[in-house]
Amino acid sequence: MNALYDITPFTLLDYPGLPAAIFWFAGCNLRCGYCYNSDIVFGEGRISVHEALFFLQRRQGLLEGVVLSGGECTLHPKLVTFVRTIKALGYCVKIDTNAMRPDVLRALLKEDLIDYCALDFKAPQSQMQQVCGGGKEALFWESFELLQSSMIDFEVRTTFHGALMRHETLEAMAYALHVKGYHKPFFVQRFINGVPTLNDLPEDHTKAMPIAYVQWR
Ligand code: SF4
Repeated sequence: MNALYDITPFTLLDYPGLPAAIFWFAGCNLRCGYCYNSDIVFGEGRISVHEALFFLQRRQGLLEGVVLSGGECTLHPKLVTFVRTIKALGYCVKIDTNAMRPDVLRALLKEDLIDYCALDFKAPQSQMQQVCGGGKEALFWESFELLQSSMIDFEVRTTFHGALMRHETLEAMAYALHVKGYHKPFFVQRFINGVPTLNDLPEDHTKAMPIAYVQWR
């Protein structure tokens, strides 16, 4: 079974400070209304991990990082083995995850296999169904605590759409992070108007925090 939907061969934007490639894993265990990767969420994998590793072998010395994104990369049953091989090739690894598989995160951290993590904080439990069609806030906090007690650098991020979430909720999420000892930027991504998404959301013209970050002070 092919795991990857696609490969972005070069990016300077997605791995902080490093030239990197992005591996887009097919499939996801959530269904966020604002998701604009429906091809990846519902699509079949088209590229095998062997092809992906061959790609990295040919890019040694040109790229420094690999971003494992999707979809949801932690669903791949052999992710840990795959990342071991990527690290053995000398690459730094960043994981983009929706935080619903702390068991996989734990396995990766245990072997020091990741260098950076972007962790989604989808919503409080009362709004998980509305925002992303399921999932558990408790799994986010479990993933968060694993990262918070690790040595690796990470960021927390949330996508905001005014039809799905109130500003007060976003502020409560920022405060909850603060209480848990998170003092790094909390990135708030605005929903991108005018692109196809999983749910047919209306355009969002609410005045929210800008695309940047908020930090509880
Ligand atoms: S935005 Fe939601 S549905 Fe889309 S890939 Fe991320 S977690 Fe999955």
